[in-house]
Amino acid sequence: MGKLAIYGGRPVRDKPFPTWPIFGEEERRNLLEVFESGKWWYGEKVKEFEEKFALFQDAKYGISCTNGTAALEIGLISCGVKPGEEVIVPPYTFIATASSVLKVNAIPVFADIDIKTGNLDPKDTERKITEKTKAIIPVHFAGLPADMDAFLFLAEKYNLKIIEDACHSWGSKWKNKGTGALGDCGAFSFQMSKNITSGEGGILLTDNKEIEEIARSYSNCGRGKDKPWYYHYILGDNLRMTELQAAILLGQLTRLEEQTIKREENAKYLDKNLKDFEGIEIVPRDNRVTRRSYHLYMFRFIKEKWEIEREVFIKALNAERIPVSSGYPIPLYKNPLFQKKVKGPEGCPISCPYYRKKIDYSEVYCPNAERLCEEAVWISHSVLLAEKEDMRDIINAIEKIYKNREQLKIGI
Ligand SMILES: *Cc1c(COP(=O)(O)O)cnc(C)c1O
Repeated sequence: MGKLAIYGGRPVRDKPFPTWPIFGEEERRNLLEVFESGKWWYGEKVKEFEEKFALFQDAKYGISCTNGTAALEIGLISCGVKPGEEVIVPPYTFIATASSVLKVNAIPVFADIDIKTGNLDPKDTERKITEKTKAIIPVHFAGLPADMDAFLFLAEKYNLKIIEDACHSWGSKWKNKGTGALGDCGAFSFQMSKNITSGEGGILLTDNKEIEEIARSYSNCGRGKDKPWYYHYILGDNLRMTELQAAILLGQLTRLEEQTIKREENAKYLDKNLKDFEGIEIVPRDNRVTRRSYHLYMFRFIKEKWEIEREVFIKALNAERIPVSSGYPIPLYKNPLFQKKVKGPEGCPISCPYYRKKIDYSEVYCPNAERLCEEAVWISHSVLLAEKEDMRDIINAIEKIYKNREQLKIGI
């Protein structure tokens, strides 16, 4: 084991982990086919991908679009979220979960997360429900489905819509049904860092015909189904995916299942070896999650046990050539966007005439989200596509740092 790599010792690893994206003949063939056909716009390949991806997630309908942020916005519009209505979101997520709400002139209200999973906490969510609440956006953080039983119960009790932010959860299943259409609808992203990618891209899934029709129309300039081309029925947008993106995604989709299974196996191995590790808290299993996608493998670093800072641990681990990062640095509400009291045209939405209430995000405080921002350590999904002995390296490196942590206490 010897000297820490950060002090010039030999790193635990001598070869790199897999990089992302992974692509091959399938993408090349599909892309060439589309290229040479000259049909680059909204056609066969897009339809084929929508159908195949919806089927993969056990949903009835798929409406493709430009990105995951757009998919969330389309979901909010299709669920009938109106200006001045409140939508409950977690603060431990990517900005799109909350900014999409602002984009439809609605008000994001932050509820805290469960510190163990990083997912929206149904109990705190219920506390944040008011007469203005219209919807909840649970994020299946890192691929772990949120507690959908609890959120569907709240939806029933308070007559709310559930829009899943499934932008980490391609392949995840809750009680044997894929994420995305567990609630009213769900948004997925195919941006470059995601587990299935075309550089940019997104899709909204739903089992609800009405939502499908609005989503289809909104993302296609407000057109009507089987209606004349230059007739527009709602204020929509052009959010269409291209055939070239769909060609790549169809290739990517052929590997998604096998990659999902491989990541889960490797994550289980890490879980088994880290669950009793002093100062490390892994994400607990939930039997209702019947398959779990891993966009990230996350654990919590308990600095009181290690007696070193998380940043020092991460630097030391990176020096052993284990790529880890600290994830979201601050809860969403601490972003300048929210601290400046979001203002659009006419002061909407925060001082919107429709809202008639004041929200001061400087007073928002979600202790678990704040703590997770300080404790989380993330390992990227591409690392989980390596072999079991590579996972062993991760564990060995953590053990090596733990044993030698005295050296790190004096600082790097
Ligand atoms: C990536 C992501 C999005 C948005 O996806 P884009 O395609 O980049 O717009 C939304 N929510 C979460 C949690 C994400 O990670």
